[in-house]
Amino acid sequence: MLTHRTTLSKFLIQELANRPALNGLSALLVDVAAAVKSISAVVAKGSLSGYHGNAGSDNSQGEAQKKLDVLTNDIMLSQCEWNGLLAGMASEEMETISPIPGDYLRGDYLLIFDPLDGSSNIDVNVAVGTIFSVLRKPAGDKALEEADFLRAGREQLAAGYAIYGPSTMLVLTVGQGTHGFTLDREIGNFILTHPNIRIPEDTSEYAINTSNERFWEPPVKRYIQECQAGKAGARKRNFNTRWVASMVADVHRLLMRGGIYLYPTDSKDAHMPGRLRLLYEAGPMAFLVEQAGGLATTGRAPLMQVVPTTLHQRVPVILGSKNEVSRVERYHTAYENGTDQPYESPLFNERSLFAPQRMTQAR
Ligand code: MN
Ligand code: MN
Repeated sequence: MLTHRTTLSKFLIQELANRPALNGLSALLVDVAAAVKSISAVVAKGSLSGYHGNAGSDNSQGEAQKKLDVLTNDIMLSQCEWNGLLAGMASEEMETISPIPGDYLRGDYLLIFDPLDGSSNIDVNVAVGTIFSVLRKPAGDKALEEADFLRAGREQLAAGYAIYGPSTMLVLTVGQGTHGFTLDREIGNFILTHPNIRIPEDTSEYAINTSNERFWEPPVKRYIQECQAGKAGARKRNFNTRWVASMVADVHRLLMRGGIYLYPTDSKDAHMPGRLRLLYEAGPMAFLVEQAGGLATTGRAPLMQVVPTTLHQRVPVILGSKNEVSRVERYHTAYENGTDQPYESPLFNERSLFAPQRMTQAR
């Protein structure tokens, strides 16, 4: 059994063998995996690591930094800055971009990451993760600038996440499907255990923070209310809620067995068009989900087409099983066009006797 396993390096070398344009990408991803192994080790130690609790500082978005946010950010930087493959890095925990220091060789890849996603869950021992995305610096001799990182999700060369749960897994894509690896701790290697992950097109599980319901837009309210109505409602079947509140854990579940995940725009804070960050949360997850046969949207546009204007830009996120995500998209279109009136007005509600489709289908 041990003799025929596919390690991460073997997989990447084979996967990228015929893509000379991506020269060095496999080595870069192996370095990311090395960082992830270190993070996995420190996260698994829990309180024994001495790194639990707040760092006493805020990140660039005013969120309290945990000691582990700071440590895991340093691990990512130090494991990836020396290899000569990167021009620079950007992270949730750094206000501005971090060009590769002058004493190292430089390449033209850009690495963007959320070193510890779900870090508010760390003190309660719930699964957390690391999310990353790889871009290429535009050609030319110009010094690296923030604008070089502000690119649509479609331009990602690779993306992935690690999840630190009962086992540590690395799930990644280089644009040829989404593949999962499990860390064999005794040997210290990531082993290919989930080749070609496919998200089921249909699902009866939805994940959303319902405490924000009063702030949602009508199309999202409509979708969730229909799920909640279950068998008796328009959907004629029952749904289940699943919500870990750790994006990596919630997205990992839907990659493994289907589901829809929503962090939609809401009216709670007018300055925030959503809560999740485009470049190092939504973007890489959208790439992974699409490569696994799912869909990712803001409700109004494919997530992979959104071009960021700032490094830490937030975006509404709806992703997962194809048929459910496109239904939510349809509800947004209908809302924009005003054709969801049957839902808005109780008299012409699609569950009422007056709904036109019911009259024609009446038996
Ligand atoms: Mn995060
Ligand atoms: Mn984070």
